[in-house]
Amino acid sequence: MSKLIVKKFGGTSVANTERIEAVADIVEQSINEGNQVTVVLSAMDNNTDKLISLAKEIDPEPDLREYDALVSTGEQVSVALLAMSLLRRGIKGKSYTAYQLGIKTNSSHSQARILDVDVDKITKEIQGGVVPVITGFQGMNNVGDITTLGRGGSDTTGVALAVALKADECQIYTDVDGVFTTDPRIYDKAKLLKNISFEEMLELSSAGAKVLQLRAVEYASKFNLPVRVLSSFKDGEGTLVQEEKNIMEKPIVSGISSIDTEAKLTIRGVPDVPGVAAKILGPISDAGIDVDVIVQNISADNTTDFTFTVDNSNSSKAEEILKETSNSLGGGSIEMDDDIAKISIVGRGMRANAGVASKMFQALADNEINISMITTSEIKISVVIKKAEMQEAIKALHDAFDLDKELDS
Ligand code: ADP
Ligand code: ASP
Ligand code: MG
Repeated sequence: MSKLIVKKFGGTSVANTERIEAVADIVEQSINEGNQVTVVLSAMDNNTDKLISLAKEIDPEPDLREYDALVSTGEQVSVALLAMSLLRRGIKGKSYTAYQLGIKTNSSHSQARILDVDVDKITKEIQGGVVPVITGFQGMNNVGDITTLGRGGSDTTGVALAVALKADECQIYTDVDGVFTTDPRIYDKAKLLKNISFEEMLELSSAGAKVLQLRAVEYASKFNLPVRVLSSFKDGEGTLVQEEKNIMEKPIVSGISSIDTEAKLTIRGVPDVPGVAAKILGPISDAGIDVDVIVQNISADNTTDFTFTVDNSNSSKAEEILKETSNSLGGGSIEMDDDIAKISIVGRGMRANAGVASKMFQALADNEINISMITTSEIKISVVIKKAEMQEAIKALHDAFDLDKELDS
């Protein structure tokens, strides 16, 4: 049966012209099977990183309108190359930037959100037998400036286009075989998952699994669009990210994610009175800094220590703000530690099973890994540990919860 499919390919999948030809092979094969295909591409290899470094050579904190104008160019290169390859094969490939298509976003440069995708133009092209090849990662705001969607944002472009086109499938092609129980580059015993629910994928992505951008999962979940993650390097079914009710199994732990790009800030000896947490975190949030894990100690002598984590890129700014807060609150010293990692275990079976946290803590204790912060949600438990122990902790938890042995659903 003929299907309308959106296929998104990541940076490694289009890293050089050889890889672009391999992507063209995949597109051609799908067309030969009778499908209508729309393609979304990332920039080649690590070109986005190179563009960001260039910007930072000029200004460590570049103007964000100009930053977006610069970093969005990477995707323009890859789409034109793939369109050329398709045309040479007699397929009507045609490149489009998000700007040409009017993919509308808000104005949060470098972190913009998609507001509206007008698919009239693409639909007409598809009906005329064209294979649109569209730049991922970018859009335009209401005054016509180019915006970008945050790192990994091409995933979100792919999902948003698939939703707007009412596509039968959204396929995210990457450099691993799908979504694994943990990053297969960290632990070689990681196992490919056939299915995962939106809810679990949301937690895994927000806890650091960059295989799918968090916003792409949010978007897919909101519109109940199943997303298949698969390899552009070899054949396989990959992983279907979909509604929970379609998945039989309820593993206690489905996967483990990690983040090692956060810093922990502590303000010591603040008065333990109502409103202190708001006084500490208010100015941090006013500065546009997102806070992740938060811990407030039990007070001793009517004072307490307050600790939270932020992304590394914001740690110096947060430290400065905290010094001012400490002066005004009459608090004590400030400490900053970026030698940390956050490990999270995620599984929707946790809801119905007590003792998951104690099993996690025991596994870490058995490996002499000290936990400095803990936070939980309904289907996730996260701990902050020393960065150097991250890999060991992931392996220990993967083994403790038998993730290499879990039956496929
Ligand atoms: P792309 O360029 O295709 O968008 P990314 O580098 O953004 O690819 O995402 C793919 C990478 O995500 C993999 O190479 C892998 O190292 C990492 N990753 C992290 N967690 C997971 C996981 N649970 N399953 C699969 N890959 C993961
Ligand atoms: N090229 C962009 C990045 O490197 C977007 C993407 O790859 O999804 O973040
Ligand atoms: Mg990516």
